[in-house]
Amino acid sequence: MHKLKINNSKKKGEALWEKIPCTCKKGTIIQEHPYKLCTHCKCKLQWLSVPQTNFIVKNKKGKDIEVKEILLKRGKLEEPQGWEFLS
Ligand SMILES: [Zn+2]
Repeated sequence: MHKLKINNSKKKGEALWEKIPCTCKKGTIIQEHPYKLCTHCKCKLQWLSVPQTNFIVKNKKGKDIEVKEILLKRGKLEEPQGWEFLS
């Protein structure tokens, strides 16, 4: 597997959402709904859903193509909201 080239990427800790502290109440998970995440953790999950290595997709003609480069789309907290591949 090759490392995917991610355009519009930021250095670790530089995106706005990374500067928002986590406000999840740690240790009270039984009282809290487990899926209720703070803004920081929601953004982090979105970041973790971004692929990091090359992957195969089918093009319009049904042929397999390897995606080596993507363009990240960011929201107002600079959190990843999606991406499109470039090839
Ligand atoms: Zn949190």
